[in-house]
Amino acid sequence: MKPTGLHLLLSFQCSRECDHCFVWGSPFQRGAMTGETVKGVLDQAEDMKSVERISFGGGEPFLYYPVLLSAVRMAARRGFRVGVSTNAYWASCESDCTEWLSPLAGLIEDLTISSDWYHWEADLKQHVLNVCAVAQDLGIAVQVRSVVFPGSLDEERDPQILESPVEYRGRASVELAPEAPQVSWLEFKSCACGDLRDPKEVQIDPYGNVHVCEGITVGNLLKRPLREICEDYEPDLHPIVGPLLQGGPVELVLRYGLDHKMHYADACHACYDARLALRGRFPEILAPDQMYGVKRELDPLGSLSDSVADET
Ligand code: SF4
Repeated sequence: MKPTGLHLLLSFQCSRECDHCFVWGSPFQRGAMTGETVKGVLDQAEDMKSVERISFGGGEPFLYYPVLLSAVRMAARRGFRVGVSTNAYWASCESDCTEWLSPLAGLIEDLTISSDWYHWEADLKQHVLNVCAVAQDLGIAVQVRSVVFPGSLDEERDPQILESPVEYRGRASVELAPEAPQVSWLEFKSCACGDLRDPKEVQIDPYGNVHVCEGITVGNLLKRPLREICEDYEPDLHPIVGPLLQGGPVELVLRYGLDHKMHYADACHACYDARLALRGRFPEILAPDQMYGVKRELDPLGSLSDSVADET
């Protein structure tokens, strides 16, 4: 594969804990990319030759603002097109917004705001308006992305808001899927994303794992160069991607003889459920824990303890 884009998950930590989050972002989650790791990823991105764009997200990357800013500067200096995604928790007024955004002006191609009723309830509109007003003055292009339940896409919406339906993987498979209409598991004979064979963008998590979809890794660039990982990627032989390409989540279940539900909300829901059952068998591929709802929380003594989310 020859990805043209790398999306760096700067942190699994987030200011929010949204029901639809693919990566189980949370204030209690741990895992953040260091500046040194970012630099190493950018070195490898240059070595790849095919990579044109670097985007930064999470979790919430503005929680690690100094690292984000230095990462954006490094990426822009090396000639990459740069994007940043945020939930705009920091945009409580225009003057503060200016402080946050001014250093990014001229360096980023676009700022994507994840903004919907899962994120901001009543504050939603004002935070978005603050960012849009300030970004326009600074010459930063803004895109607002809004996740909605299928069937509730708003025909009257602002055309600048890009609405997309919930995909039921990550926390959405646990928190939202039970409320969604369900269809027979046998319907899901193809992957929902379409480019697992030759993804144009891969995600890099704080531990260096390279994901073709959240929680499906093809290698770790801290252990092996990204260029080699991409050159050696054989999707049909990958133990998770191979079955998905052959027959979607249904094939994943059949190939490994997995127990399964009779109905799912969508292909991602069926896929995620099957992958949960396969984690013990493919621990290095179906990683890290954060992508599968294992939270690291501070106990009253201040030490970290694991807890597994209730996965139904
Ligand atoms: S079906 Fe699986 S691999 Fe495809 S987009 Fe959904 S979760 Fe990702």
